[in-house]
Amino acid sequence: MDGNPEQNGKTFRGEESCVAIVLAAGRGARMNSNVPKQYLPLGGKPVLYYALKAFQESFVERVVLVADEVEYCKKEIVERFGFRKVSRVVAGGKERYHSVWAGLQAAGECGYIFIHDGARPFVTEEILGRAYACVREYDACVVGMPVKDTVKIADTDRFAASTPKRDDVWMVQTPQVFSAGLIRSAYGALMESETERERKALPQNLRITDDAMVVETFTEHKVKLVEGSYQNIKITTPEDLQVAECFLNRET
Ligand code: C5P
Repeated sequence: MDGNPEQNGKTFRGEESCVAIVLAAGRGARMNSNVPKQYLPLGGKPVLYYALKAFQESFVERVVLVADEVEYCKKEIVERFGFRKVSRVVAGGKERYHSVWAGLQAAGECGYIFIHDGARPFVTEEILGRAYACVREYDACVVGMPVKDTVKIADTDRFAASTPKRDDVWMVQTPQVFSAGLIRSAYGALMESETERERKALPQNLRITDDAMVVETFTEHKVKLVEGSYQNIKITTPEDLQVAECFLNRET
């Protein structure tokens, strides 16, 4: 099918409708800033503005925004910039996956759920279209790119323990996109195991840093990798903001 549903002039409802969960909670300690990275200025606007704008202009029907500063986000971001597709702003949790769980509760009826880091300002209509085509075929996909550098697995003493074949190593980005039933049941199993302190399915000390690993761990379903872009960076450390300013200036 065509990678860009909007070009088909269709509106997706019921089973096929798409909801985005945009994550903007957490403090982002690696930025060394009092202001969380998702609110820092980029081209005169908060970093979070750009991801919301991409979804606002896309085929996605509704957006759930997950944030710590709910009232601030409603007033200073959603209302101020007129993001009419944002139907709910809900409070985030301690870890990213808690915030995703809060977003899933607020997402309502839909066919597919796009989970996106609000700290990734350069998601595009093309990426969303590719991910949408992919999730319709495989029910679970994550956007990413092959690594450019050689990757080493370190041992506990920080010696190089092994070197995976570079062609097989991808750096994973967002959006991570799933059929709604699949992601809800994967997260349901994760949260259940957490409250019961079982967590048998997860190796000790393994932090849950993305949604694909929840599906990989708690379901039998395979997750397909789909091409994002090298520009789809996450603002994590101060130099990422400088790179982002360069990308932005190149576009304008
Ligand atoms: O911390 P990390 O860089 O992995 O965060 C990725 C995304 O997840 C960011 O957009 C951040 O706002 C979000 N997040 C969240 N709730 C948390 C931690 C992170 O919504 N508790």
